[in-house]
Amino acid sequence: MTVTQPRPVYDVAIVGSGAGGATAADMGTKVGADVITLEAGPNTPHFGWPRCPPEVLAHFGIKE
Ligand SMILES: Cc1cc2nc3c(=O)[nH]c(=O)nc-3n(C[C@H](O)[C@H](O)[C@H](O)COP(=O)(O)OP(=O)(O)OC[C@H]3O[C@@H](n4cnc5c(N)ncnc54)[C@H](O)[C@@H]3O)c2cc1C
Repeated sequence: MTVTQPRPVYDVAIVGSGAGGATAADMGTKVGADVITLEAGPNTPHFGWPRCPPEVLAHFGIKE
């Protein structure tokens, strides 16, 4: 017997989580869309943005 999982369905798929993709994802989720972002690059640790103001990090849900 084969058990298949239902495939998730998204309203929007964004390729790349750079400046453009992250902004588009933020806008999409704010209007209630289910958004998936596909990123091929490496993870960038939060400490890679030492000069980012705390309120900007908070806007993106990032805790210092
Ligand atoms: C050294 C440097 C300094 C800069 N300094 C500034 C600055 O001070 N101020 C400023 O306004 N701009 C600056 N820029 C420009 C700014 O980085 C770019 O304008 C901006 O990042 C472009 O956004 P983007 O979303 O188009 O691309 P990116 O930010 O490059 O994002 C593209 C993303 O897509 C991913 N990707 C690519 N191909 C695939 C794939 N096939 N599948 C999945 N993911 C994929 C990449 O890994 C990347 O994360 C700088 C650029 C550089 C290189």
